[in-house]
Amino acid sequence: MEQNTIEQKIQEFVAKIEAKNPNEPEFLQAVKEVAVTVIPFIATKEEYRGMKLLERMAEPERVIIFRVPWVDDKGEIQVNRGFRIQMNSAIGPYKGGIRFHPTVNLSVLKFLAFEQVFKNSLTTLPMGGGKGGSDFDPTGKSNNEIMRFCQSFMTEMCKHIGPETDVPAGDIGVGAREIGYLFGQYKRIKNEFTGVLTGKGLAYGGSLIRPEATGYGVVYFGEQMLKTNGEDFKDKIVTVSGFGNVAWGVIKKIEELGGKAVTISGPDGYVYDKDGITGEKIDFLLELRASGNNRAEDYVKKFPTAEFHAGKRPWEVKCDVAIPAATQNELHLEDAKNLVENGCRCVVEAANMPSTLDAINYFLDNKVLFSPGKASNAGGVATSGLEMTQNSIRLNWSSEEVDARLKEIMIGIHNACRKYGKEEDGYVNYVKGANIAGFVKVAEAMLAQGVV
Ligand code: GLU
Repeated sequence: MEQNTIEQKIQEFVAKIEAKNPNEPEFLQAVKEVAVTVIPFIATKEEYRGMKLLERMAEPERVIIFRVPWVDDKGEIQVNRGFRIQMNSAIGPYKGGIRFHPTVNLSVLKFLAFEQVFKNSLTTLPMGGGKGGSDFDPTGKSNNEIMRFCQSFMTEMCKHIGPETDVPAGDIGVGAREIGYLFGQYKRIKNEFTGVLTGKGLAYGGSLIRPEATGYGVVYFGEQMLKTNGEDFKDKIVTVSGFGNVAWGVIKKIEELGGKAVTISGPDGYVYDKDGITGEKIDFLLELRASGNNRAEDYVKKFPTAEFHAGKRPWEVKCDVAIPAATQNELHLEDAKNLVENGCRCVVEAANMPSTLDAINYFLDNKVLFSPGKASNAGGVATSGLEMTQNSIRLNWSSEEVDARLKEIMIGIHNACRKYGKEEDGYVNYVKGANIAGFVKVAEAMLAQGVV
């Protein structure tokens, strides 16, 4: 098919999705990124043409929106909104995290659910895609408030999930503590002890390495990317954003591989620690997160040799590798330019969609090694898949066993991205590779199952 016809097809498709989903900028951004790479691929496959596969994938199978009423510590009634997006179940039960954050809305969760479908497919495990959450803000809430909120959230959500139907996990604002409260409530209501959630505590069906898995997976993926240039993490200066669970895992693994992570960030600004975030400083990240204050600046209070830059993002710091691990759209075109001008040659996304489309295109045009979150952060959900397997067979694997499987999965994803993303000059477009490789498995399953 001629190039301009394909361009036209992409534009028509995006316009159609935009018309159907007005006021959903994040969702549209995620769909656009996939459409640009997958539509030209579909055009080369006779059996995919006219099957409206991508259009079907862009329409959630089911969207559940519900009221989450709860009583705060002052005795006042609070009302939040809860969501579960069941996006695609072609290759397995819906699977994906729950996010508690004031920015949560339908657009954000639909983008996350859409990306999750491709990500889960890339893991090669049998997991469909979903995502859920609430606009509840955990910052400054007491433990009891968090528990009451989780119980109310699950009281409704339990009607729509199950170990063979939909298996949620954590995401921003939902960690081991929240998963515990959600699991406890599910079990009380259903009178059933099952692997309905992942990211569980070790005492009740969780998997070793699950807390570290997203960050470790990101670094394993980055290792493979660097290897294509004959390099590794040894002595590399790495800028990282965020200070949550993902950033923690990333920084831990970078230290282990001999690299030096020098930044973290929060909504208040970023911290630059020229000596490297190592040893006890890494453990402190867990305390920082558990404090519930959401302030990166608190790091500098504890380690005063580090600098705090209020209201800024870490992408102005000179580095070899950048790992955005905070949230969506935290790395803009200006940041991408800064990074490239300062010599950064590798960007490994750890958050979901942290780079804007303009920033991604800039990286690709400049042949920077760039991997999208749906490929490089898939180790989190992959290890959730391993937790599901362990729950099914009623066994716990050792850390070494889980870690070895995680690494193997990340290498597999890297190979899949290369297979579909390698360009004529040898440059690997990981965005294209991840989108096409993720698409193919879901498409094959959907084709086999009729018009679903
Ligand atoms: N929230 C994580 C993600 O974005 C993990 C989801 C899961 O383990 O189900 O992939």
